[in-house]
Amino acid sequence: MKNGIFLLSILSFLLISCQPPEDDTVVMTVNGAIFSSEMGLTLSHEHVMVDWIGADSTGYHRWDRAEVAERVLPYLQEITEHGVQTFIEFTPAYLGRDPFILQELSQRTGLQIITNTGYYGAVENRFIPEHAYEESAEQLAKRWVDEFENGIDGSELRPGFMKISVASEEPLSELHSKIVEAAAITHFETGMTIASHTIGDRPAIEQVELLKSLGISPEAWIWTHAQSGSLDTNLWAAGEGAWISLDNVHYNPEHTAGEEGSIEWYAERITELKEAGYLEQILVSHDAGWYDVGEPNGGDFRGYTDLFDYLIPELNDRGFSEDELNQLLVKNPQVAFSIRVRVP
Ligand SMILES: [Zn+2]
Repeated sequence: MKNGIFLLSILSFLLISCQPPEDDTVVMTVNGAIFSSEMGLTLSHEHVMVDWIGADSTGYHRWDRAEVAERVLPYLQEITEHGVQTFIEFTPAYLGRDPFILQELSQRTGLQIITNTGYYGAVENRFIPEHAYEESAEQLAKRWVDEFENGIDGSELRPGFMKISVASEEPLSELHSKIVEAAAITHFETGMTIASHTIGDRPAIEQVELLKSLGISPEAWIWTHAQSGSLDTNLWAAGEGAWISLDNVHYNPEHTAGEEGSIEWYAERITELKEAGYLEQILVSHDAGWYDVGEPNGGDFRGYTDLFDYLIPELNDRGFSEDELNQLLVKNPQVAFSIRVRVP
């Protein structure tokens, strides 16, 4: 009897300690929803695999899941040694998204992995499926909402955000505006965040304006590859509430210090945004990985540690505190990828 009471009190203690803080939100991993506060150190934009062949030819028949998982596994184990707990995988459908590999890698590494829904319009619509040309924004949204509610390709694996993309530098085409609209509808119905591969200022400004006109707060939008934009437009978008994702942190010994794309350049951009008061809207990651389906054994694979080996030391040198680094790599992803509808 005494043991029974002891067990009960342990159980109720566990139940109480598992209660989230009242303002906690959830994020959706391939293994289901977790509290945002459980994400821990997060790489907010990375890839496991990519298939460049195009929407008309890609599919699960194109790769061997076991071979891909074996190749990628050590790179994921390496980041768990740096304390990474959550890995956000940005490869969209028709470009090599495979949530089944992600689930296996999650089980084998203990990483919480998040996948996505949505369509990728950049590269002259090479990765856009045929049906997207004829269907309305509402019809496309229905497909993405269905993945969120029921799972991807008949599985129970659900996306945790949208990854879309639009053409570089140009005004938004009709098709790309439709994709942004479909993302807005999906956001209203699911609360998923919209991450948009956006190269250059103009398409960033147009998407922010379009989302606002559709009644969505730019807080629901991540400017993916914001490093391709000017500081002025980064600041403008942040002022509108958008997330500024500086996501190609990559040490290259051929870069001269401060050259665009160098570690110092990233540290400088982060510092400038911080000084303008936007530390709480910056996401930092490598956009690395890329097991290439068309290459033997996936070709060159880029690991996910430059942030720890180069960028963090550089930020430390610039006086970034532990709290500020925690804001960038732990707290910001929790808010950015939380499942909640954001309206102005
Ligand atoms: Zn990417």
